[in-house]
Amino acid sequence: MNKKIPVCDFCGVKDSDKNPVISGDKANICKMCAKSAYDIICEHEGDSDKIEKLPTNSEIEYKNTLLKPKELKEILDEYVIGQDKAKKVLSVAVYNHYKRVFNQDTVDDDTELSKSNVLLIGPTGSGKTLLAQTIAKYLDVPLAIADATSLTEAGYVGDDVENVVTRLIQAADGDIKKAEQGIIFIDEIDKIARMSENRSITRDVSGEGVQQALLKIIEGSVINVPPKGGRKHPGGDAVQLDTTNVLFICGGAFDGLIDIIGKKQGGNRLGFNQDKKTKKEQEAILEMVEADDLVKYGLIPELIGRLHMITTLNEIDEDAMIHILTEPKNALTKQYKKLFTMDNVTLKFEQDSLIEIAQKAIKRKTGARGLRSIMEDVMLDIMYELPEYKNKTVTITKDVVNKTTKPTIE
Ligand code: ADP
Repeated sequence: MNKKIPVCDFCGVKDSDKNPVISGDKANICKMCAKSAYDIICEHEGDSDKIEKLPTNSEIEYKNTLLKPKELKEILDEYVIGQDKAKKVLSVAVYNHYKRVFNQDTVDDDTELSKSNVLLIGPTGSGKTLLAQTIAKYLDVPLAIADATSLTEAGYVGDDVENVVTRLIQAADGDIKKAEQGIIFIDEIDKIARMSENRSITRDVSGEGVQQALLKIIEGSVINVPPKGGRKHPGGDAVQLDTTNVLFICGGAFDGLIDIIGKKQGGNRLGFNQDKKTKKEQEAILEMVEADDLVKYGLIPELIGRLHMITTLNEIDEDAMIHILTEPKNALTKQYKKLFTMDNVTLKFEQDSLIEIAQKAIKRKTGARGLRSIMEDVMLDIMYELPEYKNKTVTITKDVVNKTTKPTIE
């Protein structure tokens, strides 16, 4: 369960090492506000020489939240297996983005830094959403996740693009300022590609319309949001949110993109056939993706122009599946082991059992997403009887995964 972090009742800042929040019986106050109160009293009493300058809250928050790219990648490494390139690209993009956001008032020359929104290209269940979620959690910024396929142009039945902004405000608990520095993750962006001449003769107008609508919020504009945007504005007036400093991360599988890139790279030379290439070769081709390949795929150039950082994620293979099961901080096997320990039971997974689970997940073709339900299915009966196994060791074997035998309990 998450411990509630104390918040200063005067300025709203959260408790941190640099600016601790002192909790009283009825109210909380942070070091900065306590110091301001002390300064005001000193000034009032003519003791202004006692006033000592401390960094401001925004300076403290800036230093607290702005992790360097390497630090960001290290955090991502704890939760996301493999996908090194994507982790690097995202870490740099996020660092640049927040550096730009936090330094807006301090840099006063004419150089305009453009937003570094990110496009993650990779198969389903390869960690695209997980990357966005991990980043948002560690930067403590609100995150809204939307599926591009559910979005429609304004006026059509479905989810208006503006609703995504509403969701961001909800994630920020109604705090517009916080929402304006949040992250919006738009999944399945490839599914709103217009059909280009390469892929179909029919032109999908609505896909293009949604792209246009998305472009508006991605490039940064003030969006009018209906008053349901959070508890701070119940039933009140419409609120406005400026998306200029919102970081957009888009994701998609882009099936068939490899053919477009391959054709460009290899021309129509003999032997050109992406299907015959090994996984590694295919991944290397996909890594060469450029903006014009995405235009050919059916994204409008203006939208691609706003997604400065493009990177690819690899399909999760058996090895990576096993790492995902065992390594991340919240790895499934670690979670089950912990649950068992609470009942004084030791849980062991034989390597074969992990391989079997990984292979089952690969067969499902949903990437690492399939692991959880496979694991839950394997563990259900054992969990049901868990309290009876006190002080024993339960071992999961390949046959247990295949349900041809019960686990050994010793
Ligand atoms: P998608 O690429 O479709 O957005 P997700 O990020 O939603 O995939 O992945 C679904 C789930 O699969 C995650 O919540 C996580 O449990 C697991 N997963 C996927 N890829 C990875 C990875 N590279 N490392 C660790 N876990 C992963």
